[in-house]
Amino acid sequence: IVGRNERLTTIDMLSFEFKNPVKLIFGEGQIEKLKEEVPQDAKVLILYGGGSVKKNGILDQVKVALKGNYYEEFGGILANPEYSVLVEALEVIKTKNIDYLLAVGGGSVIDGVKFLSSAALFEGDNPWDILSKRIRTEKGMPFGCVLTIPATGSEMNSGAVISRSEIKEKLSMGGPGLFPQFSILDPQVIATLPLRQIQNGIADAFVHVLEQYVTYPVDAWLQDRLSESILSTLIELAPRILEDPKDAKAASNFMWSCTMALNGLIQKGVPSDWGVHMIGHELTALYGIDHARTLAIVLEPYYKHQFEQKKEKLAQLGTRVFQLSGMSEEEIARQTINKIIEFMHSIGIPTKLSEYTDDYDGVDDIIAKRFEERGWLKMGERKDIGPAQVRTILQQSY
Ligand code: NAP
Ligand code: FE
Repeated sequence: IVGRNERLTTIDMLSFEFKNPVKLIFGEGQIEKLKEEVPQDAKVLILYGGGSVKKNGILDQVKVALKGNYYEEFGGILANPEYSVLVEALEVIKTKNIDYLLAVGGGSVIDGVKFLSSAALFEGDNPWDILSKRIRTEKGMPFGCVLTIPATGSEMNSGAVISRSEIKEKLSMGGPGLFPQFSILDPQVIATLPLRQIQNGIADAFVHVLEQYVTYPVDAWLQDRLSESILSTLIELAPRILEDPKDAKAASNFMWSCTMALNGLIQKGVPSDWGVHMIGHELTALYGIDHARTLAIVLEPYYKHQFEQKKEKLAQLGTRVFQLSGMSEEEIARQTINKIIEFMHSIGIPTKLSEYTDDYDGVDDIIAKRFEERGWLKMGERKDIGPAQVRTILQQSY
């Protein structure tokens, strides 16, 4: 077997529990199955984004499927879902006695709906506490999803990220009560995606896998192979789906790869990092840069900074996915970082902060201070990322 696990570290696969209750309904024309999933007597609130679902007909398909159900609508949950908008939706849930939520959109709408699911049953006075005090949601209002853009995996996980631009915050939340009851994945929705969103989706899913794979090695052979398969599949399909979003074969594989990248499966039994995401979120909060693009900015300086800790897995990735050979393990690991960055460029994603803004002076200090204030002193898979490390990493990102 090429690249077989000869390393045999002393660390065994970590113990884990795995439960993912999301019912996935995958395939062309599956949106009509909504009628079988949403309870007949539910009082439904359909939530969507800035209007793409009106233009491409997805909202109409949803409404046809929900004929006979009571429903209200709430649109305007834009990319990087805003707390202030969600508070308005919460008001609708309360005044109309809504008891079931339906997200029709991408990571932003789904994350927004997860916040609402939690906030609708929250007993405290201030729903912002769910984010600022990192309150886990054990039980939320039931909700389902019709996914319109492959990228985040939010359709099959229980996490969400919510922005509050007035204080330039972007914070995560989650808990076992926030899995969707079902998610419908119809790859035909990809046909109307703008190029920029397809690029973002590929990049976000790719980095999701890296966050769970390029970590300290444990003997979790299957998880490693699963992660490598997702990365290889994304590399294979990227040029096809970028060239033609109507390519049905590439579209289905793209959609499924993004879900698999962050539905919990590849994370089981292995350490995961998420440092790239945590720093990336700050760049979105400060500059409004698309989520996936912030990750592409942070990756290279982060992996160079953490090189000693990550070189074994980087080398394994280089050997198995990028087919690098004929060099020392250390050199393969270094080349692998270049390969990842080349891949980002090949899909049209710039990887330097200066390619997105001229106003980056002092951003390392601003973000390092935020980590400090929040007490984020020991982040990352080895708990060795704190304000000082964040500062150094960002200084290399311009
Ligand atoms: P998104 O922000 O939900 O949507 C991006 C854009 O794509 C929107 O402008 C949307 O327009 C448009 N769009 C969506 N579907 C379309 C379609 N079928 N045709 C045409 N346009 C379409 O994108 P996303 O990348 O899925 O989500 C990003 C958010 O998820 C970020 O806030 C990120 O932090 C978060 N995230 C969450 C997780 C998680 O696990 N929960 C993981 C990673 C990232 P409209 O608004 O007009 O619909
Ligand atoms: Fe992400």
